[in-house]
Amino acid sequence: MSIAPSALPISMRRIEKRFGSVAVLRDLNLDVEAGEFLTLLGPSGSGKTTLLMILAGFVRANAGSIRVGDDEIITTPPHKRNIGMVFQNYALFPHMNVFHNIAFPLKQRGVAAAETAERVEKALDLVKLQGLGERRVDQLSGGQRQRVALARAIVFEPRIVLMDEPLSALDKGLREHMQIELRSLHRRLGMTTVYVTHDQREAITMSDRIAVMNGGRIEQLDKPETLYATPQTRFVAGFIGESN
Ligand code: ADP
Repeated sequence: MSIAPSALPISMRRIEKRFGSVAVLRDLNLDVEAGEFLTLLGPSGSGKTTLLMILAGFVRANAGSIRVGDDEIITTPPHKRNIGMVFQNYALFPHMNVFHNIAFPLKQRGVAAAETAERVEKALDLVKLQGLGERRVDQLSGGQRQRVALARAIVFEPRIVLMDEPLSALDKGLREHMQIELRSLHRRLGMTTVYVTHDQREAITMSDRIAVMNGGRIEQLDKPETLYATPQTRFVAGFIGESN
């Protein structure tokens, strides 16, 4: 079963971002292939979240362009970008039940009640939360909450899904389990995915390709095995070599 329509490639060109006088992203270029799982990997402060927020439309770049398929989206507001987003802290509505949390983006888009029910059901199924629609979010475990966040991100059939450290609040066992589930969900749905982590093992397990970031730049973008075999900068060699 595929929930996502055809995936689209992303092309970011010459992205610049400053906060005050501090340059956070510098002349950054990034191409994500249609349907691939690409991870931004780098130390804290290297600009991963800022890059993701610019893609989502929550942060405005000072310069540059973003194309998704044939469309330039740099000035498109977030809710019109057709991008699903999953955050580290879930960002769910604690007072609402699971169903209403997942239905929220459909409501925003004016989807009718019958279709909403059908799509939420399908999303619950995909994240293995069948039968939990009536449960309040504050009565769920961490893993279940992250599944709700994931269901909410895919329920409107986005062409692109962005995830910012989605598993870092979970304990190790559950994190490894969810890595496998996320990967398998991506294989089934095939949406273009940009994933942020500072955990190299997670990046290597999950990604088709990894962009190693440092100081607001991409140092190297390659398949995991290529990064290991042929790091192109001293930073990449050091960072990939570290155990964590
Ligand atoms: P990462 O996700 O790799 O940890 P971030 O994108 O969060 O990196 O941050 C990159 C840099 O930008 C950091 O130095 C951070 O302090 C700075 N930064 C991020 N957001 C803001 C903001 N809203 N105002 C000022 N500085 C910011």
